[in-house]
Amino acid sequence: METRSLYIHIPFCLHMCSYCDFCKVFYQKKQVDDYLAVLKKELASLKIDLPLKTIYIGGGTPTSLDDEQLEWLMDIIKPYISNDTKEVTIEVNPETLDCYKLDILKKGGITRLSIGVETFNDDLLKAINRKHNCMQIKRVIDYAHRLGFNNISIDLMYGLPGQTIEDIKKDLDIIKLLNIQHVSYYALILEDHTVLKNQNYLPLDEEDEANINELIDERLAQMGFIKYEISNYAKPGFESLHNLAYWQYDNYYGVGLGASSKIDNRIIEHSRNLNSYLKFQDITTELCNSKEETMFNHLMMSLRLVKGLDLKAFEKYYGIKVLDLYPRAINKHLSLKTLVIEDGYLRCTKDSIKLLNTILLDFI
Ligand code: SF4
Repeated sequence: METRSLYIHIPFCLHMCSYCDFCKVFYQKKQVDDYLAVLKKELASLKIDLPLKTIYIGGGTPTSLDDEQLEWLMDIIKPYISNDTKEVTIEVNPETLDCYKLDILKKGGITRLSIGVETFNDDLLKAINRKHNCMQIKRVIDYAHRLGFNNISIDLMYGLPGQTIEDIKKDLDIIKLLNIQHVSYYALILEDHTVLKNQNYLPLDEEDEANINELIDERLAQMGFIKYEISNYAKPGFESLHNLAYWQYDNYYGVGLGASSKIDNRIIEHSRNLNSYLKFQDITTELCNSKEETMFNHLMMSLRLVKGLDLKAFEKYYGIKVLDLYPRAINKHLSLKTLVIEDGYLRCTKDSIKLLNTILLDFI
């Protein structure tokens, strides 16, 4: 399988959010300079010979970098952008972005902004230790429009401490007023060793989560967003191509601290040890999955998509029909109508997609 997607991890942040377990460290100017130098070497060492279709710069907070560093990062990715590149995304945090940085991103070839909004409610933002406010979010979107960005995504969360249904409805009302093309809407997950988990904050129960999900689905659909993955919604033609590569279980390179690559059946993971990375002596682990594990992972990822698993593509990759691989589980769920086959895809229904983890147990 060809590898046509690249993920670049920038692990630096200016503050630590109370729910976050991502791979991140506090911003230090000298460390960032050293990091970018190693990142450039690491990219060169991959000897990428096919044009990339998608590039995604995530974090951390990539826009915590200062102007010069951001320009340098754009220079680093420049050789990997070609006419074949359909999407170059960067994650941005509103409080770290001004029109100068946005201009650097635009000139550097960024085509898509993914803004970490989480909520438009200033009190809730404070409660999770985010440092931006609603006004800054709107200002960033306004600047981005003026500079000609026409593919803007926002990330939102529900299930935040003290967040009510009314708060979520207000967030949805604000989305309606913004000219944006994509929304990722996630339930707060309480990961171990995060401040919220240590404070014994309790997540939503299943029923509340299902009701909120329903509300979000309904309201975003009214605004013209089409749900294409469990937590992702896009205006027609604005699905995240890079994330689709993950869900379709395509290959991808991952560079930078803590990033992972998937090359056929191999998952290559960087450690989260910044000192080793800065010496360009990162400890990577390589996991070679069996064909069965790879096929299961492919099915699991693709069933997250509303469209589902492409049956022909699956057969082409692995030389076996998914129906021959899992006859009992598939027949069981076809008769329960929790899975359907339509237009060459195996997919969940609108209701059963919420039970995906339970459905997958039958495939293990
Ligand atoms: S800005 Fe993002 S990566 Fe950094 S601590 Fe907050 S959630 Fe985590």
